[in-house]
Amino acid sequence: MTDSSIAAAPDPSVRWVPPSAAANGSQYPRPPLGLAMRRGIMGRCPVCGEGHVFQSFLKLAPKCESCGTAFGKLRPDDAAPYFVILLAGHILMPPIFWIDRAYEPPIWLHMVVWLPLFAVVCTLLLRPVKGAIVGLLCRLGITGNTDDPNLFGDKPE
Ligand SMILES: [Zn+2]
Repeated sequence: MTDSSIAAAPDPSVRWVPPSAAANGSQYPRPPLGLAMRRGIMGRCPVCGEGHVFQSFLKLAPKCESCGTAFGKLRPDDAAPYFVILLAGHILMPPIFWIDRAYEPPIWLHMVVWLPLFAVVCTLLLRPVKGAIVGLLCRLGITGNTDDPNLFGDKPE
């Protein structure tokens, strides 16, 4: 299969076949961390770059429709909201402080303007940040299930 523009050249030293993908007869190089997270940000499968990570706005697809990598076992949990709050705060707090110092608007105006803006920015950031977390989890092979071998099919030590 050909990859899209976000694909990188495969590194033969890190050949890796996700167990669920091996059943399809497909083989993908283990993606570098940056590539896996970029694919996740774009809502694409971090492993193959072709399938979709999400089946709805924030719900993970059970598995990639292209390579079969199981996303249903991944547990991004609260990491995405944590990083969204961190990012939104760093994006919006400097202009809030600057406008407050420069124009001294009444507090009700702050609330009317900034609270909806925070809600919009956080909503827009949630999906790409969760996708990046899924990419990170895929790259690290963290499934959250200690009974199973990890996503890469490596045997536990
Ligand atoms: Zn895939």
